Amino acid sequence: MRETKQSDITIELKRGDIANQSDIDAVVNAANAELRIGGGVAGAIHRAAGPELTEETRSMAPIEPGEAVISGGHNLPNDYIIHCLGPVYGRDEPSDELLANCYKKALDLAEDHQIERIAFPAISTGAFGYPMNDAARVAFKTVKERVDTLEYVSLIRFVLFSEGDIAVHEDVMEEVFG
Ligand code: ADP
Repeated sequence: MRETKQSDITIELKRGDIANQSDIDAVVNAANAELRIGGGVAGAIHRAAGPELTEETRSMAPIEPGEAVISGGHNLPNDYIIHCLGPVYGRDEPSDELLANCYKKALDLAEDHQIERIAFPAISTGAFGYPMNDAARVAFKTVKERVDTLEYVSLIRFVLFSEGDIAVHEDVMEEVFG
């Protein structure tokens, strides 16, 4: 399963770069606590958005694992960037709850800002070491719990880097929504 519709909300998987999603209103950053440029997703987003992004996020930092904050999109093709700090696997506990909080809070912020289309990367699955299938399960279950109460969000996209990551997400999507 690469796409599913739940309570009129489309949830889809797409292979690509989170910093290149021009048909999306808000992209989610797998941020670091300092909300600065980093490796992986935070590197791609900050490079594409430009230095004004760091100017804007400086006053919001630091953030805690499970927390999310919102900024403008700057030079990205998106109106907003929602910055989530995922848990470092094996260090920030309980990691499943903290990861779920990222998705919950990002969706809350999207609703507060009347955002229709949001795209997530696989938060915590890179430098932070969270196993991809466990992280996907947390992400989809959290989305599933929230879909009935979303008023504005109508598209939730998961942007994955590789075909292997897509395959893992397809299986878990089937398990959670199938
Ligand atoms: P974290 O520190 O939360 O683990 P990372 O940015 O290191 O975040 O990685 C999160 C996931 O995003 C990993 O699966 C990684 O392969 C993937 N990734 C890295 N760069 C990009 C990108 N530009 N677009 C989409 N996914 C990306």
